[in-house]
Amino acid sequence: MITKEDLFKRIKEYNPNELEMIQKAYDYAKFLHQGQTRQSGEPYISHPLNVAYILAEMHADRDTVCAALLHDTLEDTKTDKEDIAEMFGKDVTNLVDGVTKISKMNFSTKQEQNMANTRKIITSLTNDVRIIIIKLADRLHNMRTLQFKSEFKQKENSLETLEIFVPLAYRIGAYRMKSELEDLSLQYLKPGIYLKLQEKKNQIEEHSKEDLQEMLYKIKMVLDDKNMPNEIKIRTKNIYGIYKRLQAGHHLDDIHDLFAFKIMVEEELNCYTTLGLIHKLYHPINNKFKDYISNPKTNMYQSLHSTVFGEGGKLIQTQIRTFDMDKIASFGLTAYWDINKGKAREKMQEDLSHKYQFYQSLVEIDRSFSDNKAFVEQVKKELFSTTVYVYAPDGTIIELPQGSTPIDFAYEISSDLGNTMIGAFINNKQVDVDYVLQNKDRVKIVTDPLSFGPRESWLTKVKTTKAKQKLLQMRKMLH
Ligand code: MN
Repeated sequence: MITKEDLFKRIKEYNPNELEMIQKAYDYAKFLHQGQTRQSGEPYISHPLNVAYILAEMHADRDTVCAALLHDTLEDTKTDKEDIAEMFGKDVTNLVDGVTKISKMNFSTKQEQNMANTRKIITSLTNDVRIIIIKLADRLHNMRTLQFKSEFKQKENSLETLEIFVPLAYRIGAYRMKSELEDLSLQYLKPGIYLKLQEKKNQIEEHSKEDLQEMLYKIKMVLDDKNMPNEIKIRTKNIYGIYKRLQAGHHLDDIHDLFAFKIMVEEELNCYTTLGLIHKLYHPINNKFKDYISNPKTNMYQSLHSTVFGEGGKLIQTQIRTFDMDKIASFGLTAYWDINKGKAREKMQEDLSHKYQFYQSLVEIDRSFSDNKAFVEQVKKELFSTTVYVYAPDGTIIELPQGSTPIDFAYEISSDLGNTMIGAFINNKQVDVDYVLQNKDRVKIVTDPLSFGPRESWLTKVKTTKAKQKLLQMRKMLH
């Protein structure tokens, strides 16, 4: 059980100078929730305390921790925005208010009210991404304590978690939260399968232990030998990840990244040196190498991935990255608290809107659909479901919903490119404009500045809201 002392000890480790306000937030929340209990029988304050603790583990800033402590007070107690603003300032109030606005929800039923709420959850990203991060921490603690709810509620919350919160966590790169949320959901949705997989996983882990330790030791020796500061960890795929692979028809024995070595070094160039050293120790399998350092994933994940023949000839994935990249890999945007210290908040919002590709699409969908149900459906279709990753001519990775065509690609890059497009090449071969893009396609758009503009028929050949809107705009202008 997490106590107030645990929370303060955590915060002291990274932010010893701002404890006073956090203490005040704790005292106020405790006072307001007095007499309320959770279904577990614990005093209610244990919930906001845990939420704050989850965030403190990510080194959240002062305002975020305060807002986490106060996040249920507007809804469940008799304080109001004015009181909170007076005591804690405008920023904390905005955060608490933002979380409150998206708390009364019940996503699985299809009522308009719930759609409106889901929309608010998703779009609060554009207001202050910390609202979503607090909400994710809130959901994580609720999922961790789901055993006290009815079976119906357990299933309902788990479905909702998989449908909305997991994709959101993925989008901001918060992998650690994402995988815990996934496993907790699966545990309640398919308890039998979950237990079986867990058992299997433990068996394999036990069985592979010696080989993995030996490999870790050998890699470490080589790096130490070259005087490269390093840290190596073995990470196991989460149960949900294994479940999904099996669903896709894979066999447990050929999931090559069931275990992976996370190898962290200090400089970017050292990553490549490390890769070379590992390949000297263990033969790589040629088509299983990915350079996500030069080509980051669209949620800013960076790492070198190489699958090698490990001890006993077993295939195993190695992931090589710097310590900072590793923080982003585990915590995504929330790692900014650690990396960008004082300026984290601005940098988070700025990078989210400029570097994270899904953000622009989200804004576009928000702008285009006034109906809440249509908005939610479009987000699920366009941003939360299967996507394809293709390459622009300069090597940038562009992410699009499955079924997208070169027209979608062109408009994703720029309106100009779409408006002057006359054809497309995929992997150096000419294709029709309604060709369906596949993973890893290299896309080159052929343009003619004197073209008559996009064809009307293209409207039926695009998947993304962005392309559709631009086409409609162009048509209006031309008529
Ligand atoms: Mn809560």
